[in-house]
Amino acid sequence: MSGPFKLAPLPWDEDALAPTISANTISFHYHKHHQTYVDTLNKLVAGTPYADMKLEQIVQKTTGAGDAKEKQIFNNAGQVWNHDFYWRSLTPSKTQPSAQLDSAIAAAFGGRDELIAQLAEAGKTQFGSGWAWLVSKGGKLAIEKTPNAENPMAKGVNCLLTVDVWEHAYYLDYQNARPKYLEAVLGKLLNWDFASQNLTKEDQAVRAAAE
Ligand code: MN
Repeated sequence: MSGPFKLAPLPWDEDALAPTISANTISFHYHKHHQTYVDTLNKLVAGTPYADMKLEQIVQKTTGAGDAKEKQIFNNAGQVWNHDFYWRSLTPSKTQPSAQLDSAIAAAFGGRDELIAQLAEAGKTQFGSGWAWLVSKGGKLAIEKTPNAENPMAKGVNCLLTVDVWEHAYYLDYQNARPKYLEAVLGKLLNWDFASQNLTKEDQAVRAAAE
């Protein structure tokens, strides 16, 4: 269906993350789940001021909404944004953190193994559906977890990476074993180029805000 929001293309082929994440999982996750969030968002915003807003603006304006329709808009807009961000957080290519990200990781976690251990723990302990995040606040890195469609960006926090811990992200490949999915994905697929670029964006935003 038509509307202001489109399903963004995947950054790699559907089988590119196999065997860590199968083409079957990516196909269902992208063409069914992600597509449905886009379609539902388009239906919900039709004829409202949200139809002319950027996705990020909608997420920030509707987070914590009490109104039932606004809550629905948040849930779908958040899930569209989260999935776009998740696909770009993963890559089959070997990537490395930039020098800037590397020193931020060393300062916050002592090293990448500890970062990954904390991100895995956040994903494992997110009760029910949700997301685990690597974020930066003034260049200082931290791990966060959010339920359902929520994300740190809604509250103005700069996100570097995310991992989807809704069951649909892993059930076909790992059944109920969320920790095995997290161990495999975090060990093999994180896109450190994407995280490095996102850290630079916060730097630019902080400088622009200070001028
Ligand atoms: Mn998902």
